[in-house]
Amino acid sequence: MTLQDALTSADELIPVGAYLRVSEDKSQKSGAADWREAGEEVHSQLEEIHELAADHGCKVVAVYNDNNAPATDPFIVRKDFERLLPDLESATVIQGLFFYHSDRLARLEYDAARINRIYQMNPDLIGLSTSGGVDLSTQEGRTMFMMQATVGGMEVYNTKRRVVRKRKKLAVRGVMMGAPRPFGWSEDRLSLHPVESEDLANAIKAIPGGKKIGTIRKEWFAKGYMKKQTKKGLEKHGKRDMPMDHSAVEGILTNPRNCGYMIHLPQSERRGNNRPWLPDHVVYKDGKPVMGPWKPVVTPEEWAACVEAIKERKEKRSKGLDKPHETSDKYLLSGIARCGKCLFPLTANWYSKQSSSYERYGYRYACLSNLGGCGGVTRVGPPIEDLVEAVFLEEVRRSLGAVVKEEDVDETVHDERLAEIDEEIEEVNRRRKEKRITMTKALDLIEELEGEQVDLKEKRRKLTASKVQRKTEYPTLLKEWEGYTISEKKHRLRQDIRAVIVQPQGRGRQPFNPELIGIEWVE
Ligand SMILES: [Zn+2]
Repeated sequence: MTLQDALTSADELIPVGAYLRVSEDKSQKSGAADWREAGEEVHSQLEEIHELAADHGCKVVAVYNDNNAPATDPFIVRKDFERLLPDLESATVIQGLFFYHSDRLARLEYDAARINRIYQMNPDLIGLSTSGGVDLSTQEGRTMFMMQATVGGMEVYNTKRRVVRKRKKLAVRGVMMGAPRPFGWSEDRLSLHPVESEDLANAIKAIPGGKKIGTIRKEWFAKGYMKKQTKKGLEKHGKRDMPMDHSAVEGILTNPRNCGYMIHLPQSERRGNNRPWLPDHVVYKDGKPVMGPWKPVVTPEEWAACVEAIKERKEKRSKGLDKPHETSDKYLLSGIARCGKCLFPLTANWYSKQSSSYERYGYRYACLSNLGGCGGVTRVGPPIEDLVEAVFLEEVRRSLGAVVKEEDVDETVHDERLAEIDEEIEEVNRRRKEKRITMTKALDLIEELEGEQVDLKEKRRKLTASKVQRKTEYPTLLKEWEGYTISEKKHRLRQDIRAVIVQPQGRGRQPFNPELIGIEWVE
């Protein structure tokens, strides 16, 4: 039928409806200029629809207009859309529908399915879009409609998700059932695993005291703890659970989940080969970390102290100050004891000596000339160590009496600024969207704010960490000293003892003389 024919036989034209709605982005804007723009868009949508309808021998007899109603929010009822459905189904007032594009009509699967159902029941209905080429009277058309409508919805959802920045929906992330069960928790991901959670808590609390990740790893290996394999990992390697490597144990210990903090890991971080440093991904709201619904293993203070200690060690190692496989970890005073004559560090080495009546063996601290020392001091190790330990513990016991007044650490001092930063980032986004500032400028501003954010979050964690160190370190030290490994003891000694000066004792076998051992305390 030509347009001319249609005009002359208006009575025979098929009555149809027109559905109109401007895009979310435009309807969300305010201001007169935008409002006029939206009105213009509705007008031009309608014009195109009239033309297309005429081309198909149809006449628009009813206009359904849901301007300003987003189609992506399942809680918002679009009045005219709801009015349209029964009209279309009964096929009395209108016998078809013209619309601008699929995503004007529906952006949720549910809404698209409601439309498709009506066309499935009544294949005689007309259903055409002016752009996107959808014909609802065919199965292909309905499939295309569903896709166009919901893919559009997905885009909107993704944009929104980026803008709203991490907020909602995160609560479920920590309890996702697809991921392997987190170490320390039961299958429900909420309640604690009675044995694992205790081992995890003990390990976290021992780190600031100097316990090594390697030691924890060995202990956990002996207990049979394994690295949980993800489904992907299972497919890829074909192996079941594997022993935990260093980075797996580190990842478990530093996970913010341990103290109840929620994290958000961007997709980009999850894809990489390197294990992400989770403490940097705590979700903040109003300047405070957001708590998840699961039971925590340790307090935020204990977690932060552990993270800070591990971070410090990593930094030292990368600066070469603390080589991971130094023999120093085997001997309490290597690196601390120095020669009384030349102040060169003493080296611990083993000796075995056969005399006529017995065999002696052990280790001694020596100023070795082949390493650069004077060679003037060699002393059997254990008596010096016993003396230093005893003097050190006595000093701690004494200081405990004096120090008790607990300093008031306030880790919340930065919360206000952190909350402000969130708002400022949103404000920058708003301005960018309203085209008041350029994308480049917006990125500059946001990156600067993000930098400040990272800095403040770290300060907050450090304050939190110092709280636990002050509160619990001294009393637990006295209680737990005997159970410490050499590296833990050493770490603790170094905080208070700068050096142990060992004077030469003269020739021949003599009884141990404590007078010849001097301790230099840290000022
Ligand atoms: Zn020397």
